[in-house]
Amino acid sequence: HAKPAGPGSYLLFDNAMTQQVMRRLNIHNELHRALDNGELQLFYQPQVCARTGALKGFEALLRWQHPRLGWVSPAEFIPIAEDSGIIVRIGEWVMRTAATQAAAWVAMGHSDFRMAVNLSVRQFAGSKLPSVVERVLQETGLAPHILELEVTESMALQSVASTLSTLHACKALGVKLSMDDFGTGYSSLAYLKRYPLNALKIDQSFVRNITQDTGDAAITRAIVAMAHSFGMSVIAEGVETKAQLAFLRELGCEEFQGYLFSRPVPAPEAIKCFAGYTDASD
Ligand code: C2E
Ligand code: MG
Ligand code: MG
Ligand code: MG
Repeated sequence: HAKPAGPGSYLLFDNAMTQQVMRRLNIHNELHRALDNGELQLFYQPQVCARTGALKGFEALLRWQHPRLGWVSPAEFIPIAEDSGIIVRIGEWVMRTAATQAAAWVAMGHSDFRMAVNLSVRQFAGSKLPSVVERVLQETGLAPHILELEVTESMALQSVASTLSTLHACKALGVKLSMDDFGTGYSSLAYLKRYPLNALKIDQSFVRNITQDTGDAAITRAIVAMAHSFGMSVIAEGVETKAQLAFLRELGCEEFQGYLFSRPVPAPEAIKCFAGYTDASD
């Protein structure tokens, strides 16, 4: 349907592509420096009990403020970090920083919460992950049950045997495991039953239109039923409205995470979340 483009448009297209490639290269080159220069930070987003509005945990989310580019979204730089392999170093920094923060909150008298960190599939390669987790727990003194690792379905693209043994080795350390963005990847239900997971996180793409889209509601209902029959709980991501909240509570989701309660916030602000959300749960 587009009109035939003149030579000028090809040039424009070329420039746009070049710019995109340049930006990618730039981000790639600067990620190492970012890590060493303290440009990376963690923000924390609360996870809230569906029944009581009490705080159940936090998800730690990476933020990068680049001196020239400004805020760079993790949706942009994580895939680049994964391609270059530096995600393994970044992921270890994330785990140590989140665990240090959680241990500080424990020292302030809070004990009944989890601290979830996102794991890249690259952190699953090899057999290093359990020893990294063990070292972080030792260094920070954090009780293992407070730390939660969010894994994704794409880890199943590795060998099933090594994925399973890595998950079980982490589980044996006492940390919790959850499956992020559930329903968006290459789920094999046959593997799911063998993964030692505590929780499934329903992706926000199902939550977004849940009150109007009967298909999304049906998928969510099925995920909740399956999770419960495997003894897992369900966390709904991306909850923005009270209507979504009411619907998801009706479907039996145990926990909510989303802008309705709080955006991801820096640690000093996240402390306020320990007070819970009694007013948002009516
Ligand atoms: P994710 O793990 O699924 O994290 C949830 C994303 O949803 C976060 O985006 C969060 O800010 C956003 N979100 C939370 N509540 C709402 C809501 O109510 N509405 C909407 N529209 N969005 C909401 P963020 O922080 O931009 O992170 C994007 C993705 O980047 C994450 O998705 C995760 O896959 C990845 N990521 C972030 N931090 C890390 C990290 O430390 N390591 C790794 N490997 N990946 C990370
Ligand atoms: Mg996550
Ligand atoms: Mg998610
Ligand atoms: Mg996501």
